[in-house]
Amino acid sequence: MSVTLALAGNPNSGKTTLFNSLTGLNQFVGNWPGVTVEKKEGALKDNKDVAIMDLPGVYSLSPYSLEEVVARNYLLDGRPDAILNIVDGTNIERNLYLTTQLLELGIPVVAAVNMIDLVDKKGDVLDVEKLSHQLGCDVVRVSALKGTGVREAAEKALEAARRAIAPSPAFAFSNGAERALSSVADLMRPKLGQEIPEARRRFFAVKLFEGDEKIAERVAVSDAAALAAVREKAERDFDDDAESVITNERYTCIAAIVRDCFHQKSDSKVSASDKIDRVVTNKWLAFPLFALVMFLIYYVSVTTVGAWSTDWANDGLFGGGWRFFGIGTADYQVAVEASTSGAPDPADFGLWIPGIPSLVSDGLRWAGVSGWLRGLIVDGIVGGLGAVLGFVPQMFVLFVFLAILEDCGYMARIAFIMDRIFRKFGLSGKSFIPILIGTGCGVPGLMASRAIENDRDRKMTLITTTFIPCGAKLPVIALIAGAIFAGEWWVAPSAYFAGIAAIISSGVLLKKTWLFSGEPAPFVMELPAYHLPTASGVLRSAVQRSWAFVKKAGTIILLSVVAVWFLSSFGFEDGKLTQVEDLGDGILAHIGRSIAWIFEPLGFGDWKAAVATITGLVAKENVVGTFGILYGFAEVAEDGAEIWGPLATSFTPLAAYSLLIFNLLCAPCFAAVGAIRREMNNWKWTLFAVGYQTSFAYFAALCVYQYGTLLTTGTFGTGAAVALALTVVFAFLLFRPQTGAFRSIRTAV
Ligand code: GDP
Ligand code: MG
Repeated sequence: MSVTLALAGNPNSGKTTLFNSLTGLNQFVGNWPGVTVEKKEGALKDNKDVAIMDLPGVYSLSPYSLEEVVARNYLLDGRPDAILNIVDGTNIERNLYLTTQLLELGIPVVAAVNMIDLVDKKGDVLDVEKLSHQLGCDVVRVSALKGTGVREAAEKALEAARRAIAPSPAFAFSNGAERALSSVADLMRPKLGQEIPEARRRFFAVKLFEGDEKIAERVAVSDAAALAAVREKAERDFDDDAESVITNERYTCIAAIVRDCFHQKSDSKVSASDKIDRVVTNKWLAFPLFALVMFLIYYVSVTTVGAWSTDWANDGLFGGGWRFFGIGTADYQVAVEASTSGAPDPADFGLWIPGIPSLVSDGLRWAGVSGWLRGLIVDGIVGGLGAVLGFVPQMFVLFVFLAILEDCGYMARIAFIMDRIFRKFGLSGKSFIPILIGTGCGVPGLMASRAIENDRDRKMTLITTTFIPCGAKLPVIALIAGAIFAGEWWVAPSAYFAGIAAIISSGVLLKKTWLFSGEPAPFVMELPAYHLPTASGVLRSAVQRSWAFVKKAGTIILLSVVAVWFLSSFGFEDGKLTQVEDLGDGILAHIGRSIAWIFEPLGFGDWKAAVATITGLVAKENVVGTFGILYGFAEVAEDGAEIWGPLATSFTPLAAYSLLIFNLLCAPCFAAVGAIRREMNNWKWTLFAVGYQTSFAYFAALCVYQYGTLLTTGTFGTGAAVALALTVVFAFLLFRPQTGAFRSIRTAV
């Protein structure tokens, strides 16, 4: 017999952690709501017949957010054999609110009181027996993180599924409310021949009483007027609307249950977590601290530790190999300087371990592989892919930092801090969660926008999320910071803050148009207690994300670099397709030249940069891969020179920075555009998003280059004039008062 267990609980109650522990899978554990928007399925680790469903985190079973709808429909229609309800023991009142609703579904329930390690540490005492009696279901003490009670919870849930007995709670609402509910229950009739299961009658009665339209589609009512009369009477008696009546009843029951079963140690000692929060979420310190943290992360992962590891990989593994200095080094330098006919062979001057390009190249030559194929493999695949893979160590370092921030609980605070700033502009902090997730990869970030109920805010979030530098943009940042700016400290962090600035200014600007105007939605989220990140959790997340890049390198990026190599090294001579000597004669060079004028005002009207930007639309790593091929050719020679040397001579710092800004902010990669399309569910909006992003990027890069040129050389040309005019328009859109259209809509309503 196969059994299905559904994991249900509040956001951040530890569902995913428990899911991973039960299934041995590696679902992403996020520290904010919206991460698990879709339900995920896995099999129990030591019993493959048991399927486990990780449902999105919800606070209730009302139909107000997509997550609630997903979770609720699954519970109603998916017929899990039992529900494993995860209750955050450190926040028991609020978590039991969902529990009281789950108990009404007529599905066997086992309550796992999670974070019991924290409960114990605080000195609070939970009476499992009493709670079990009150809820009418089994209760287990669990720490998903530490692994305690996990097995027992699974066993209890399996047993409950086998017995298939609906929970029988010992608590009840007040007499008045119960009477109203039983009157509603009497009016319920099966719809479309669908019998109402006896054990689920209460759930439906409550929902009909609350006026839940989605449930009204499932259950018929014999007398609609009588239902309305019941509700009206109750609303009069309780002096509240029907939904609030039920909410109050639930909280009254919960208060009694908690009083009975949970003994909170009544000390007024402030927890360490609260102490940290006083500083971290302090009105004045919060934002500077956040800026400092992100600055350090980008600085360390791109400029210091990251750069060392990447230099090792780029210049050694995928470059000229490693030379061991000492014997013969000085002689080698002398020989390099004296040489007029190419670099001398370093192997003659000391110990030298060749890098991959020369190994592959020698191997292929030795095997007698023909010239063009050698070119494809060495210059195209090794050159292009190597350029991308060389940055994996750096990405890994970034991902480790991000995982630590997520795991310890800081990321959740950032959304909270951002809410304060966003609210001033009419945005909600909820919009920042997709952006935080987008720091790893834009696609899950975009998906997380589903947690935003307000459709306008959700659309706006979809438009701005990919402004944040994702992992794939890191190589582009690292390349420019390293090759052009010699690792200057401000370059990499500035890329991150440029993304944030783009998001905030776009948010303000768009919010003022009639398309997006409206009040910000309230933002409620759990701030989980800080805890030390676990090494295994951090590593798992960093390895997973890095591995995704390596896989991508083996597929889409491999295809792209082969295409780039082919198009760049073949051209038409006398109407025939032949391999060209000089890449400047290749097909790609022609294409690049025909579009390069577009980027001329931005300072990088060079065909190679134009081509790299275009290939970046397929995947952002391609920018680096394309540069690897277009600038790397000469360098794969075995002279041990830095592979990015030639790039530095081709760009002024200003042009390179403008190139960086444009590539960071313009239309995201195909995968992300696809995700925007899926989430918008509309091509027009998708085109609007991509068009807006690209125009914004063009404007930003134009300003960087033109104002930069103006400041450094003092020349004021057409470009600067255009930039100035656009800046005035931009400033107007940004600082004008809320649109008249918005006001007229509001007065019309
Ligand atoms: P979900 O939103 O319900 O899926 O929750 P997650 O599984 O993503 O967990 C939210 C946070 O709580 C993560 O930072 C977890 O590491 C942490 N967490 C989960 N279970 C426990 C636990 O038993 N004890 C402690 N101290 N932390 C936990
Ligand atoms: Mg989750």
